[in-house]
Amino acid sequence: MSGGERVNCGALRAADAGKEVELFGWVARRRDHGGLIFIDVRDRWGAVQVVFNPADATQAHAAASELRGEYVVRVTGSVRKRPAGSENPRMATGEVEVLAKGVEILSTSKTPPFPIEGEEQDVDESLRLKYRYLDLRRPHMQRFLEIRHRVNKVTHAYFDEQDFLEVETPILTKSTPEGARDFLVPSRLYPGKFFALPQSPQQLKQLLMVAGVGRYYQIAHCMRDEDLRADRAAEFTQLDMEMSFPTEETIFEVLEGLFGRLWKELAGVDLPRPWPRIDMKESLLRYGTDKPDLRFDLEIADLSQVLAQTEAQVFRKVLGERGVVRGMAVPGGKDLTRKELDELVVLAKGAGGQGLAWVPGPLDKFLSEKELAGIRAATKAGDGDVVLIAADRRRRAEKVMGIMRTEIARRRGLVRDQEWRFLWVYPMYLFDEDDEGNMTYGHHPFTRPMEGDIPIIDTRPYDVRAHSYDIVCNGYELGSGSLRIYRRDLQERVFEILGLSHETIQERFGHLLEAFEYGVPPHGGFAFGMDRVIMLLGGTDNIRDVIAFPKTQSTQDLLFEAPSDVDPDQLDELGLALKPKPTGGGRRQPASPGAP
Ligand code: ASP
Repeated sequence: MSGGERVNCGALRAADAGKEVELFGWVARRRDHGGLIFIDVRDRWGAVQVVFNPADATQAHAAASELRGEYVVRVTGSVRKRPAGSENPRMATGEVEVLAKGVEILSTSKTPPFPIEGEEQDVDESLRLKYRYLDLRRPHMQRFLEIRHRVNKVTHAYFDEQDFLEVETPILTKSTPEGARDFLVPSRLYPGKFFALPQSPQQLKQLLMVAGVGRYYQIAHCMRDEDLRADRAAEFTQLDMEMSFPTEETIFEVLEGLFGRLWKELAGVDLPRPWPRIDMKESLLRYGTDKPDLRFDLEIADLSQVLAQTEAQVFRKVLGERGVVRGMAVPGGKDLTRKELDELVVLAKGAGGQGLAWVPGPLDKFLSEKELAGIRAATKAGDGDVVLIAADRRRRAEKVMGIMRTEIARRRGLVRDQEWRFLWVYPMYLFDEDDEGNMTYGHHPFTRPMEGDIPIIDTRPYDVRAHSYDIVCNGYELGSGSLRIYRRDLQERVFEILGLSHETIQERFGHLLEAFEYGVPPHGGFAFGMDRVIMLLGGTDNIRDVIAFPKTQSTQDLLFEAPSDVDPDQLDELGLALKPKPTGGGRRQPASPGAP
């Protein structure tokens, strides 16, 4: 079978009419039209229609009758314009077709477990993951691979222009606390000892600053043994960067520049700069979350002052116990039905809140005119509005109101879908309370407190602001960073406040503290989740769509069936013996992030 010009399936256009071509690809679709056989041949670049005419090429036509979906073929033939009226505007190659002279089957295929053609068919995800190579063959999945490739390219080019050095850091390393459990790798050569897989290259990039690298970046694989959470993956990719002698402004400028470039090149959007900044506590108050979605205008107000003297028991009790009252006006909300309000109460309780009140509503009779007017003024409620109110411990009230804010925006169609609202949450705080009320770090224990707040570090630790910042876009936290502690004494003090013993500090961080004695440039940096950025640019809510070979949400690899049993010899070599499986089914809770 003589060849022609070797072309990609998606490349042919009207101007190519008359060319002799050679194509390789998969049989996407096959139609037998009384004598004429049509197939679409697909590769990564698109698909093109091929016609087999028994009168022109008897042998090729006979061979074409053997073709089935997903067979891999080599086709030779000539390009011609499709007869008028039979063009297909939905295909980029829709003005032409290839009149086949020959076809060769390079590989046959069983019927795939789900259709490869047909845009984004709703296929069971475990089937997709088991047959990931077929899933990835689907054109919309190839698009995600392409976006990822382009994001990486733009990122590399940008950091190169900015004089950053890409440095690769090891996968087998020692634990760096980022708030999750480590994956451990047993050492064969040192029985009983373990490596940890990196939760991030945090300490390594700090050491690179001590080494004088000045500006470092890396697209780094990170592994965190997370419990099941919809928005987390055990294995993910971070854009990791670190700079010497920066201020927050230096870092903000580099990153706003990068995101500006990415959004311009991948979404054709000019992101306005500089991005707004909001103090974390203010964000929690006004938006009920530290990752606010600013594509809608609803705002939460503190009503604790307005209700300080109230007779209404529900509020009195909470305020008496040092809780807070928060409210939010729902524009036009007087039309909310009792059923809708009850649904909101269920949501509030589901979030751990005590409930939800509203004004005007059943509580009005317990509130004075002045209090009612105060509530309306604080929440800027108009005549047709209803004010939703939560009274609770601060963290819970914030959470409930944050959920109300997104729920009301969703139900009432208030989200401006076309907008990209980037912002900095800055400053953040050095310490935080975990869900059990224990003290933990806000970002990670290497974060530098604001100098002016160091005097209150022991007395009012929760008020200590940190040189720490998050990037948030459309309600997603994309990443975090901070300026770092670069003095041994201060680093030790922060570890101690977090409850680490002298021995633990020495054992786990001795190398870093020692490095801090050899000339450390003040430094700081940032890391953001590449997967999340690609999700936003690709328009998917599923993080697994943008990872070529992802784990399931419960951290299994369905294609390789991992994790899997290993050969007893391998365990012997490692000096390991398996205990009987734990009974009772309960998953062990992660170690408190406060104890890195
Ligand atoms: N290592 C941090 C993280 O993974 C980011 C940083 O502080 O640079 O979140």
